[in-house]
Amino acid sequence: MNFDYTEKVNTLRGRLTSFMDQHVYPNEATFLKEVAANRAKGDAWVPTRIVEELKPLAREAGLWNLFLPFSKRVPEGLTNLEYAPLCEIMGRVFWAPEVFNCAAPDTGNMETLERYASEDIKRQWLDPLLKGEIRSAFLMTEPAVASSDATNIQCSIRREGDEYVINGRKWWSSGAGDPRCAVYIVMGKTNPDAGRHEQQSMIVVPANAKGIQVNRPLTVFGYDDAPHGHMEVDLHDVRVPVANILLGEGRGFEIAQGRLGPGRIHHCMRLIGVAERALELMCKRSLERVAFGKRISEQGVTQERIAEARCMIDQARLLTLKAAHMMDTVGNKVARAEIAMIKVIAPNMACQIIDWAMQVHGGGGVSNDFPLAYMYAHARTLRLADGPDEVHRVAIARLELAKHMSIPGAAEKVETPITRS
Ligand SMILES: Cc1cc2nc3c(=O)[nH]c(=O)nc-3n(C[C@H](O)[C@H](O)[C@H](O)COP(=O)(O)OP(=O)(O)OC[C@H]3O[C@@H](n4cnc5c(N)ncnc54)[C@H](O)[C@@H]3O)c2cc1C
Repeated sequence: MNFDYTEKVNTLRGRLTSFMDQHVYPNEATFLKEVAANRAKGDAWVPTRIVEELKPLAREAGLWNLFLPFSKRVPEGLTNLEYAPLCEIMGRVFWAPEVFNCAAPDTGNMETLERYASEDIKRQWLDPLLKGEIRSAFLMTEPAVASSDATNIQCSIRREGDEYVINGRKWWSSGAGDPRCAVYIVMGKTNPDAGRHEQQSMIVVPANAKGIQVNRPLTVFGYDDAPHGHMEVDLHDVRVPVANILLGEGRGFEIAQGRLGPGRIHHCMRLIGVAERALELMCKRSLERVAFGKRISEQGVTQERIAEARCMIDQARLLTLKAAHMMDTVGNKVARAEIAMIKVIAPNMACQIIDWAMQVHGGGGVSNDFPLAYMYAHARTLRLADGPDEVHRVAIARLELAKHMSIPGAAEKVETPITRS
C-alpha cells in the first residue's frame, strides 16, 4: 500500500487549502451571524447567503463533487484514497463540505442513487443533487424501535397497484430541515413475513409528497443545526410510483451493505480534519497563556496530551487511508472490517482531542466563542450516528472470531450495522 499523495491530489490539496484560507475561514463568523440573524427574524430554516455565494467559486476552482468515484456523470470524481486528504481539509469547518457539494447526507445518498437507481430516477434526483440545486435526507431511524438493529425498522411500504403506500414515523432525519431538501431515501418493510434480511427495502420519496409532515427539529446538546436540522418526520399514506423502489423489494440490506461504506468513511475523514484543527487550537492557546509562572504549553500534562493527540490523529489517518484503499481495490463489502474499525476509532479519537483542547482553553473552551464546543457536540454524535460504537465493535469481533472457526463462509454471514446519517 502506497499512501503518498499523487501529484493530482497534491495540486487539489493546494487549491483547496487556498480556497479555505481565502473564502471559508474568513467567513466562519459570517455564517454564524447569518444564521443568528435569520433566527432573530423568526426563521432559521433558510439557506445561508454565504454558502450559496461560495458554491460557484468552488465549482470554478474545480473543487466540486470530488467525493464520487467511478461515475460517468462525474468524471472529475476521485477514488476514496484520493478524496480522503481533501475531505479532511473540508471537515475543518463544519459548513464547508456543502460549499464543495460534498456534505452529508447528500454524498451517501448520491452514491446510493448512482449505484442503485434507474436512469429515470437518476435524471430526476441525482442530476439536480450533483448540480447542488437540491438537497436530500436519509430516513431510516425510528423513535419507536432500537434502530441500531435495522431489522427492527417498522415503517410500512405496501404495494397497491402501480404505487407503494408508505406509513411510519422517522426521526434524526438529517438535512430534512433545509427547505431545499427535495428528496428522501426511506427505509421500510415491504414484506414483514419474509426472511429477516429480506423484509426491508429502500424507496425514493419526494419531500413534498402528500402525507409527509416534518414535525420538529431535534437538538444535539442544545444545537438545532439550522438550517440543516435533524428532523422528526411523519409519513402518512404517502404514495409513490412502484418505479421508485431501489433495486427491488426486500433488497434494503443488500443496498446498505454495498453503499454504507462511503458515507461512513467520509465522516471519519472529516473528523480527522476536526481533530487536526482542535490540536492546532490547543497548541496555540497553550503557547499564549501563562499560569503559575509558566506557559500552559510548558506543563508536562499539556505536552503529554499534545503528543498523544498527534499519535492518535496519525494512527486514525493511516487506518482511514487503508480503509479507503481497500474500498477502491476490493470493494466496500470486503473492506467492512476496516470501515467498522475506523468508524469506532475516528469519533473517539476526535472526542478525546477536542476534550483536551477545551480543557486547555479553560472556560472559553466550552463557550461558543471558540469552535470547540460545537466540534465536540458534532463528533460525539458520530459515536451513535451511522451505527453506535458497540455495534461496530460486535461486527469487528465477529469477523475476527470467524477467522478461527471451521465453518466455511463464517465471515460472510457477519452482519455490519446499516444505520447511517
Ligand atoms: C446527529 C445525528 C444525526 C443522525 N442522522 C441520521 C439520519 O440522517 N438518518 C437516520 O436514519 N438516522 C440518523 N441518525 C440516527 C442514528 O443512526 C441512530 O441514533 C443510531 O443508529 C442508533 O439508533 P437508536 O438511536 O435507535 O439507538 P438504539 O438502537 O436504541 O441503541 C441504543 C444503544 O444501545 C447500545 N447497543 C445497541 N446495540 C448494541 C450491541 N449489539 N451491543 C452493545 N450495545 C448495543 C448502544 O450503546 C446504542 O447506542 C442520527 C443520529 C444523530 C445523533
